[in-house]
Amino acid sequence: MNDKQKFLKVAIDVPINKLFDYLPNNKPCFIGQYVTVPFGRRKVIGVICGISLNSDIHPSKLKTVINVDDEIIFDAPMFKLLNFVSKYYHYPIGQTIMSVVPSRLKRNLNQLRQFELIYQSTPKLNRKFIDQLPSRQIRIRKVAEAILAKDRRQSFVMKLVSNWSECIKQLEAYGCVKSKKYEPSIDFTPSVAPSLNTEQLKIIKAITKKHGYQASLIFGVTGSGKTEVYIKLIESILNVPKSQVLILVPEINLTPQLESRFRKRFTNKKLVSLHSHLTDIERLDNWRKAKSGEADIIIGTRLAIFTPMPFIKIIIIDEEHDISFKQQDGLRYHARDVAMVRAKNTNIPIVLGTATPSLESWHNASRIDKKYNLLKLNFRAVKNSTLPEIKTVLVNDKTKNGISRLLVDEIKARLKRKEQSLIFINRRGFAPTLFCSSCSWTSECKRCSSKLVIHLKTKRLKCHHCGHDQNLISRCPNCDGTNLVSLGSGTQKIEEVLNTIFPEAKILRVDRDTTRSKKSLALLYQKMNNREIDILVGTQMLAKGHDFPFLTLVGVLDADNALYSPDYRAPEKLFSQLIQVSGRAGRSNIKGEVLIQTAFPNNPVFEGVKKHDYEIFALTQLKEREQMGLPPYSFAAILRAESKQLKYAEQFVNEAAKFAESLSNKVVIYDPVRPSIERLKGYERFQLYIQANSRTDLQKLLNQWASYLIQCPLSNRVKWSIDVDPIEF
Ligand code: ADP
Ligand code: ZN
Ligand code: ZN
Repeated sequence: MNDKQKFLKVAIDVPINKLFDYLPNNKPCFIGQYVTVPFGRRKVIGVICGISLNSDIHPSKLKTVINVDDEIIFDAPMFKLLNFVSKYYHYPIGQTIMSVVPSRLKRNLNQLRQFELIYQSTPKLNRKFIDQLPSRQIRIRKVAEAILAKDRRQSFVMKLVSNWSECIKQLEAYGCVKSKKYEPSIDFTPSVAPSLNTEQLKIIKAITKKHGYQASLIFGVTGSGKTEVYIKLIESILNVPKSQVLILVPEINLTPQLESRFRKRFTNKKLVSLHSHLTDIERLDNWRKAKSGEADIIIGTRLAIFTPMPFIKIIIIDEEHDISFKQQDGLRYHARDVAMVRAKNTNIPIVLGTATPSLESWHNASRIDKKYNLLKLNFRAVKNSTLPEIKTVLVNDKTKNGISRLLVDEIKARLKRKEQSLIFINRRGFAPTLFCSSCSWTSECKRCSSKLVIHLKTKRLKCHHCGHDQNLISRCPNCDGTNLVSLGSGTQKIEEVLNTIFPEAKILRVDRDTTRSKKSLALLYQKMNNREIDILVGTQMLAKGHDFPFLTLVGVLDADNALYSPDYRAPEKLFSQLIQVSGRAGRSNIKGEVLIQTAFPNNPVFEGVKKHDYEIFALTQLKEREQMGLPPYSFAAILRAESKQLKYAEQFVNEAAKFAESLSNKVVIYDPVRPSIERLKGYERFQLYIQANSRTDLQKLLNQWASYLIQCPLSNRVKWSIDVDPIEF
């Protein structure tokens, strides 16, 4: 048996949905190892996914692997999950695997065992030494100066100069710099746990009394103590040796605040985080700690669902409704749904928590067969803290500068009381369009079907879809007239308007233009807590998770935009956004107030939000979805195609539609249409929505469809993808 010829089934990062056969070299090999293999004329990195005694190809025609790495990157349960994900989302297996491993691993096998270094100065490094450096050694000088100022991490030096490793080598040779392994210093003062209230205790009991797989949905208003429940659950699980916990959180901002809260409560446990703010090396390091079982708690964004964890005992998904759990390109998976499969496969509990459940989850929790266990927290946990009062304010086109009289008065009242206000508008920049009042020309992006946004501070016109960026013009390119005016408003304009109305107030604008880094966010907290800010103007960046104790007023300016959307999920998204943003008001014991400006105050979304009544809102939404046969009462997929030439995208989608019609009469194939952004980054787009009453019927069709599309002649002329359970249109 042993001397029989073995074949390695290798996953490679190419858009072909199969494993490739190779012959082993003389090194021992196992499933889950990285290999370097010849592929065409290239050398590529792949992963061994199987070792077999059979191959459809004769050994004489097969190539031999070049190199086998010692590290096993995935265990069997993870392979099972990835296989499922590849099949369910119809994404090639090799690309599926390669898109979930830390990027450092993919690049170069030789770098595998690297960890991050920190560079320190020796006594030899001083001012005099730097001044004596030849003047052409600008880069070395720059690095030396940085390290002289303080110890610097590798990731910092890498960004400082282009040939950083040469510079370091030189400085090490001079004996000026020495390096050692970087270990993040974690110095958190432990914080004390509040004793849980009866609602919270009931939930803990309900979840811990059962063993094995079960899905629970904690539906609790903002500030009701969901996080405290997670913490207690984690404590009880980590009491048993060889246990690990995975917590998934939404993408933006939330991580640092939540992370430090967990660290303070688990000072004697090893906690690592996995998210996009980490450097490649940090991410790899943390990933390895999870994989080896060394880390007890893993807290991360959507990709963290693919972290190998040998002792995983529970998965917690905070803010489960958040759309950042769905990846929107490449492998289009939904981390919550993948987590559900992972929990089932490993027979462990999964807990979802939110104040505004996704309608899918709500449906699962309120069905008669109770796919999820529904657990409620009805009140805010802090004594005397109540939910804010939410009102609508009628506005129309005549509302001056986009801010109503009432909102102005309320801000004024806050300024008097030294309380803070947050004005929420979902568009950054100054104004969405430049408009010529002589000839009606508007500033449109040449590469996208969207308007260029005016950024007055920097005097630019920018496309928020493709990044196109040009000088702000003062003459109309169409009629050469000078009657250019700005239409609509964005954060910059609102900031300016507020500055005029309240010249004494300290106003801070927070959007992606002003607040990119973790540091600026930390600074924001500091300023808010010290009451150095009176009014915050911000985009949805500010909607989530933040806790500002002196903020008592929230104004929402452009809620109506969502009501015009063709997306049937728009009301659901708007509802949760309004509840989230309202949750920022009155977190401590001063009562908060929320004013939503709208032209349609009787819309059910606003009616529901005003009463803080998610359940009524969800009930009416679900009824509508059921009547129209939409998800979660049916299952959908979208075929998206784009091409520089419209005709190819259109032909491809038309042909795909025709073929799909011939495959099944249980799947409804809609008419091919253009998405709401018809052209993006110079690519013309077309798409096709399909829907079935059963998941099995949909998957059956997708299987045949995907293999047809891969080999159909037009597929080379378009970029296309299948999006299963899409959440955007
Ligand atoms: P959520 O995650 O639902 O928004 P948190 O767990 O963050 O709620 O709790 C909101 C606030 O209430 C926090 O300041 C938390 O410390 C506090 N809190 C939570 N549970 C209790 C409790 N049982 N007693 C007193 N305070 C509590
Ligand atoms: Zn003009
Ligand atoms: Zn553009």
